[in-house]
Amino acid sequence: MTPSKAPRASIASRKGDSESRRLRQLAWTRLNEQIVACEACQRLRNYCRRVAETKRRAYQDEKYWGQPVPNFGDADARLLIVGLAPGAHGANRTGRMFTGDRSGDWLFRALAKRGFANQATSERYDDGLQLYDCAITNACHCAPPANKPLREEVRQCRDWLAATFELLPATVILALGGLAWRQVVDYALEETWISGRRPKFAHGARCALGEGRTLLGSYHPSQQNTFTGRLTEEMFDSVFTAAKEILRTDA
Ligand code: SF4
Repeated sequence: MTPSKAPRASIASRKGDSESRRLRQLAWTRLNEQIVACEACQRLRNYCRRVAETKRRAYQDEKYWGQPVPNFGDADARLLIVGLAPGAHGANRTGRMFTGDRSGDWLFRALAKRGFANQATSERYDDGLQLYDCAITNACHCAPPANKPLREEVRQCRDWLAATFELLPATVILALGGLAWRQVVDYALEETWISGRRPKFAHGARCALGEGRTLLGSYHPSQQNTFTGRLTEEMFDSVFTAAKEILRTDA
């Protein structure tokens, strides 16, 4: 499935009046419906369905989502977080980005501390969680085996990332991990937001993109990073503090 294109506009005009916000909300809902219906990567679709049928023992009584996981958050968001892919028993189970696993515990705690979320926990689709001025997407919308999508699968899913960029008035893009960073940089180069040498990923990296956008980098809050201490809570919080500060000066 090919995304239906949102009309391109400058960031300034996209902050918009109530009518343009209403239209953006409709386009956001439509985009998410398209993502959920996507069947482009057979390997991933088969894997997600298989996981949803077999389930993890702890979740045997739950109905798994098992479909591509849509974007989550505020259609008027100025902060867009780009993650890697749904967890097989996390978002692939609950149907909401970063919901139901340890990475989500870290992410929503950090978002709540900086006022981007109304609560610090994210356990179920219907738990009342709301994001403010923030939205979450992934480089890959389907859970991959061993958390590793193939290059062509990420490439295939870039159409959804591009549609998300085109729709949201995001001025701060936060890439969680090197793969997400590469996807954003590839898109930025294609759209000539930047030119020349590729900016390098690092925790706390910051890069100016075109038209007043800023790309921030953070280690992904995966258990591999948080259990080993590669990413501490203080390090993670500092990235959201930076995002908040950029948005405050941008307002
Ligand atoms: S990974 Fe992306 S492109 Fe591939 S099937 Fe899932 S939603 Fe579609």
